Amino acid sequence: MNVPLLDLKAQYTLLKKEMLPAIEAVLESQYFINGPAVKELEDLIAQYSGTKAAVGVSSGTDALLACLMSLNIGPGDEVITTPYTFFATAGCVWRAGAKPVFVDIEPDTYNIDTTKIAAAVTKKTRAIMPVHLYGQMADMDPILAVAKQHNLYVIEDAAQAIGSTQNGRKAGSLGTCGCFSFFPSKNLGGLGDGGMVVTQDEALAERLRECRNHGSHPKYYHKWVGANFRLDTLQAAGLIVKFRHLENWHAARRANAARYNAFFADVPDIITPVVREYNQTIYNQYVIRVPRRDACLEHLKKNNIGCEIYYPVAMHVQECFAPLGHKPGDFPTAQKASQETLALPIYPELTDEQLRYVAEKVIEFVKS
Ligand SMILES: *Cc1c(COP(=O)(O)O)cnc(C)c1O
Repeated sequence: MNVPLLDLKAQYTLLKKEMLPAIEAVLESQYFINGPAVKELEDLIAQYSGTKAAVGVSSGTDALLACLMSLNIGPGDEVITTPYTFFATAGCVWRAGAKPVFVDIEPDTYNIDTTKIAAAVTKKTRAIMPVHLYGQMADMDPILAVAKQHNLYVIEDAAQAIGSTQNGRKAGSLGTCGCFSFFPSKNLGGLGDGGMVVTQDEALAERLRECRNHGSHPKYYHKWVGANFRLDTLQAAGLIVKFRHLENWHAARRANAARYNAFFADVPDIITPVVREYNQTIYNQYVIRVPRRDACLEHLKKNNIGCEIYYPVAMHVQECFAPLGHKPGDFPTAQKASQETLALPIYPELTDEQLRYVAEKVIEFVKS
């Protein structure tokens, strides 16, 4: 048997009949930049996320950077974030010219440890950037409380968490703004790169619309410098088709997670994902902890199972951030997670047989 980490071809096969006419319509219109599909997708995502506005952008990375630029965060400023995330989170803070200030994570959810945020606030802090890792939201109430007390922005990196909820509230809707990615491996994946910012702040949405268009308003008049952060019409048209299936895909991922959890329930060496009772995750990743992780990965790969380490190197020990002066032990929980976690295939089209095969191979290794 062969089980890839993600099988987008299986999804495409099911979607082909809907997808091709949507793409053809854009080709027929030849309206590639700011076509009507962009606005249509923005309205769909704003409504879905429970926010007043949504602004389509060129990627999840650019969503984060556009938020920082639109909020005037730059040199001399500090942004508090997690060391255990995809690189873009800290990378954008750096690119904006600001300093990423890391706060260690919770050992069970892998999200930022909110009890440690207040101690990291300085006079230079401008924002907190929590990441909703693997699809589960970081604990937002304490984050919002610290932010309110110190007058900070909250930029939710919800790249892995579109549609995820906390006490019924949607990812991206609670902070100053929230950033989604449509990278093909995300639950709502495009036909290439794409992203979106959602916000309850109409004025910020307007800044973001300027930002994605070189800061121009009106056209050819620039009060500030933005960039080309636009979302392609073709991407938006493809995403509208996929969006119709998103809730079903979330549900299928949750069902897969429940099946893995059942297989692993009586194997104490396999630590399954912990989801807080007030959260409903979308399982962009299903991540376990296992002893001898690297050997386990090899064992699974040898058995034709796609699996991946998210993430093998924590941000504070990335070479590019050496100027921050961190040592490996500075954020021990993140460091340990980077050595022990393993993501298994969880995609919606995974068959019962494939899932059972993966579970059996993991258990076989752990018991060997
Ligand atoms: C995917 C991802 C991003 C970046 O999104 P792109 O669309 O690939 O630029 C940012 N943060 C996190 C946590 C991500 O998973």
